[in-house]
Amino acid sequence: MEGPTRSPTRPPPEFEVGRYRPPSEGGTYSLLIRVTRNCPWNRCTFCGMYKGERFTPRSTAEVMADIDTVAAICDRLLTTSHRLGHGGQLTREVVVELLRSEPEVADVVGLDMVINWLASGARTVFLQDGDSLALRPDRLAEVLRHLTRTFPSIRRITSYARAKTLFKREPDDLRTLREAGLRRLHVGLESGDDELLARIAKGVTGAEQIAAGRKAMAAGFELSEYWMPGLGGRERSAQHADNTARVVNEIGPHYLRSRPFFPWPGTPIAKEIESGEVHLLAPAEHLAEVRSLIRLLRFDGRVCFDHAGNYWRGPEGGPLLRLDSEGYKLPEERADLLDRIEEGLELLQRFGRDA
Ligand code: SF4
Repeated sequence: MEGPTRSPTRPPPEFEVGRYRPPSEGGTYSLLIRVTRNCPWNRCTFCGMYKGERFTPRSTAEVMADIDTVAAICDRLLTTSHRLGHGGQLTREVVVELLRSEPEVADVVGLDMVINWLASGARTVFLQDGDSLALRPDRLAEVLRHLTRTFPSIRRITSYARAKTLFKREPDDLRTLREAGLRRLHVGLESGDDELLARIAKGVTGAEQIAAGRKAMAAGFELSEYWMPGLGGRERSAQHADNTARVVNEIGPHYLRSRPFFPWPGTPIAKEIESGEVHLLAPAEHLAEVRSLIRLLRFDGRVCFDHAGNYWRGPEGGPLLRLDSEGYKLPEERADLLDRIEEGLELLQRFGRDA
């Protein structure tokens, strides 16, 4: 049987996709729209995400053209589905027929993502890369409006935002972005401890983190803050837990998400560990630091361990803490969560992994 013949005159439709998104953003069912490239700060000593890459804001025209390209691919999929009598369902047969009749579509980077997204109802979108709020607010709002006009099925648009950028944004600009459809912000708090924030070159203080988080909440965003248990090493474990809990309590975010610290090879903090300047926490110490913070939390929200980096095991052999993106509701589930942490600590101590 002959394979599909390729038309040399039709290039594949193209749109840009970045590398990172939070695991809580819809699994494989979120559409990724890249509004900037890389991170405008790029100095945090623990982070290797965009090292060596230059930050570039993408133009409104470029991003809107990407959205139009995604829409055109969706149209082709739906047209093929209707032509085959599948009533808009995206079956395997529909995809195979599209690739047979329009083989250039096979070369689209991100085609799987678009198919999964459309098949799941085209509801959630994540804006890439590291700090979409670094774009001029009027430009970002224009992109958001184009996105929601093009895909009325969208229910949630989310993005990473640097705390310092949020801190500098005017409340009216944040409200405009919220009204234009941006719903949830993911902010890397990492720590609330000023000494540690300075050491890791986060470029923001605890007080600024509080002001930034409160601004986001006041503008009506759902706020996810990420903290890094173990980031201060043995040297700063207690102050890291105490001050992070204090800052989180002051902000009162909807979500606090745990991203335990492990050194990323080649980063400045990895070198501090190699030289003995900072000592990594043993698994039991790492977990005990999480316990210290949970004991101090007084906010009404959810604490989540939705990343494989939350490596501690329970007595059954599976993950000690629930890995789902909704986590534990505080204050209602605090006691259960603390009991579970005790179980993990007992297990680690029994097997001699406490030091
Ligand atoms: S702001 Fe975020 S993405 Fe940028 S360097 Fe720091 S941790 Fe990495």
